[in-house]
Amino acid sequence: MEETKITLTEKEIPTHWYNIQADMPNLPKPPLNPATGQPVAPDDLKPIFPMGLIMQDVSLERWIEIPDEVREIYRLWRPAPLYRARRLEKELDTPARIFYKYEGVSPAGSHKLNTAVAQAYYNKKEGIKRLTTETGAGQWGTALSQACNFFDLECVVYMVKVSYQQKPYRRSIMEIFGAKVFASPSENTNIGRKILAEMPETPGSLGLAISEAIEEAAGREDTNYSLGSVLNHVVLHQTVVGLETKEQMARAGYYPDVVIGCVGGGSNFSGFAFPFAHDKITQGTSVRLVAVEPTACPTLTRGLHTYDFGDVAGYTPLLYMYTLGSSFIPPGIHAGGLRYHGDAPLLCQLVADEIIEARALHQKEIFQGAILFARSEGIVPAPEAAHAIRWAIMEAEQAKQEGKAKTILFNLSGHGLLDLSAYDNYLSGKLIDYPLPEDELQKALAKLPSL
Ligand SMILES: *Cc1c(COP(=O)(O)O)cnc(C)c1O
Repeated sequence: MEETKITLTEKEIPTHWYNIQADMPNLPKPPLNPATGQPVAPDDLKPIFPMGLIMQDVSLERWIEIPDEVREIYRLWRPAPLYRARRLEKELDTPARIFYKYEGVSPAGSHKLNTAVAQAYYNKKEGIKRLTTETGAGQWGTALSQACNFFDLECVVYMVKVSYQQKPYRRSIMEIFGAKVFASPSENTNIGRKILAEMPETPGSLGLAISEAIEEAAGREDTNYSLGSVLNHVVLHQTVVGLETKEQMARAGYYPDVVIGCVGGGSNFSGFAFPFAHDKITQGTSVRLVAVEPTACPTLTRGLHTYDFGDVAGYTPLLYMYTLGSSFIPPGIHAGGLRYHGDAPLLCQLVADEIIEARALHQKEIFQGAILFARSEGIVPAPEAAHAIRWAIMEAEQAKQEGKAKTILFNLSGHGLLDLSAYDNYLSGKLIDYPLPEDELQKALAKLPSL
């Protein structure tokens, strides 16, 4: 009998992360120092990041060892299970095989703890006492507050104001783990005060919360900043997801025809898909890799591939990525973790080089898919992850039309048990779609930094 739940033992937690920079046909253009227009030197980043992470960002080594202290904490929930979605297959009456990796088993409820633990470890090792960060939907703040708690670090979280107001239980979790949580924009920082003076009613944005967290970290010796997505080291840490999945698929006896993930800043998708991109790049495997984003924040499908800041204030280096413009404030859609104007430079380069495909979906259709999935498989998915589910369902429906038994694999990046107000809105018919109007996009792109 073929298994429904494909598990690995703790001994099989990967010992190394996979660094796709060793295999990419083209590396993205380097981050630039906005003051000089020159590539950022590792030392420029020392005020906010530990050297251990800075060196991972620029490493060209294919395999980077996972420290024992990090693997020890990974053992709390890793290896994460891979499931064959048999009941969903039956519901869709499809000849396709559907598999999903489930990252919702982590204590944080999402993949984000994979990098939070690693980042807390390297900061602790270099004598840092406090970490600042931003959080949108609250998932990243939750993961980092847990990781800081494990390594005995203080954690300060700037939470996008609209989420702070709409998701009080997210704040409760962070406080359980000892974090200090502020609604952003806040009165704590120069940029926060400036924005509050200009736009007192603003719902806030991830780009703005990042500015506040960086400003605080840059101003204190004992404090560093931690980012939950986008950067090369974050993507690297998430490859533990794809590496486990590859082994589990091999045990199941199938290789995927299509690998699907949702994209906010690109970390869960990249961590899941890059080990398969390795096969595609180095062995010419024909696997399709599909990155799915919301039409309300269509960075990969409608953004420009160019240099932009990662935040609103312009404190970050200029990153070469697809962007909607760092001044873009996305509408308050319910997949809060996908509301970011840019994406991981490594992912963007692979999209530009056509190794990865990008697609966008509306929020109502993704909730429809999420409900179908929940009723078949019994898991309430995070609205972010529901983008991957919806695309997987569409692939399975197409397989049915074509009468093809293809193998579909997606990443279920987290559970949605703290997103029930979004489901409530959907079920009561209150949810609306917000495809980004072209004139709004052009307005934000017109404000891109000139080089
Ligand atoms: C944050 C989050 C995302 C989006 O972030 P990425 O960096 O693109 O992975 C997706 N799914 C869940 C469950 C999240 O919490």
